[in-house]
Amino acid sequence: MNRRHRNMLIGASLVAVLAVTMQTGAQTPAEIQQAVDAAYAKFRTLKEGKNADYIPALAKVDPNLFGIAVVTADGKVYTAGDVKTEVSIQSISKVFTMAQVIEEQGLESVEKQIGVDATGARFNSIIAVEAVRTVVGSGAPEMNPLVNPGAISATSMVRGGTADAVWQKIIGFHNDAAGRPLTVLQDVYKSESDTNQRNQAIGAVMLAYGYIKRNWQQAVDLYTRQCSIGVNARDLATMGATLAAGGRNPVTGKQVLNSSKVPGVLAVMATAGLYDDSGKWLYHTGLPAKSGVGGGIVAVSPGKFGIAVVSPPLDDAGNSVRAQRAIADISNVLGGNPYAARPR
Ligand code: GLN
Repeated sequence: MNRRHRNMLIGASLVAVLAVTMQTGAQTPAEIQQAVDAAYAKFRTLKEGKNADYIPALAKVDPNLFGIAVVTADGKVYTAGDVKTEVSIQSISKVFTMAQVIEEQGLESVEKQIGVDATGARFNSIIAVEAVRTVVGSGAPEMNPLVNPGAISATSMVRGGTADAVWQKIIGFHNDAAGRPLTVLQDVYKSESDTNQRNQAIGAVMLAYGYIKRNWQQAVDLYTRQCSIGVNARDLATMGATLAAGGRNPVTGKQVLNSSKVPGVLAVMATAGLYDDSGKWLYHTGLPAKSGVGGGIVAVSPGKFGIAVVSPPLDDAGNSVRAQRAIADISNVLGGNPYAARPR
């Protein structure tokens, strides 16, 4: 190869790299880290919101805990603050149990048996269950697996001969998405088990109305246990990155969920991930996301990154205040909004 030829080749590859960078809005590692650090510094002193206290153990968690993690679809990890301390995953587990049912039984199973529509009500609303009842049989329940009645139903759908067999599948799926073995925070599990009469009522009513086919007590217990799984911000971001990378955990390389199932999972997150504030959240960020009353939020920028923040104080809708603010800021800098294509 002569020199002119070589220079032409180098020039062409530079143009190609530039084109890809512009297309994805990709940042350098230093720029991503800077965005994470900036959000940490900006929101560290923000004191709005209040820990959930309807589960007594959650009221005792340090409200100052604040950790941010971004995991890109190619497996690079960026963090700020406390990304080691675990909180209970709470409702974020609903995403992964739903994903497991979809993986095992297909997208239609969840759509038909639970529904994939917003309820417009709080996550533990019993009125929403009554409203759904009026459309049972119409093939379009106004419910979804990310509010408690739908989530308890989804847990009841996971196949397994014994409670332990079902649990091994649930925890196994969470472990694969997080890329490490997770454990149940026993104090949270006990505290919620002692005080979850409302969820028991929901489970019983879901059985009476035919959404849960059998053993609602087992479904409520396993649901309570899955909500008590301990996770840190890095675990949650890796779980989000698994969804961002077509169902493949980009850190471990394991295909956790078939890529054809991922868009359905993300659609339900976009519709109902932040409960009755989901529309407002989507309006500002465009990101499918899921919050938990333990203070975590995970959000997904498809093809780009998973991002998670842990910070226990919640707003009135039950979503972490600092997590919402930090994720929105960072995603904005990283060009994470999937609706925001730039004109060519
Ligand atoms: N375990 C909690 C409950 O059932 C989960 C709620 C949440 O995180 N929004 O009430």
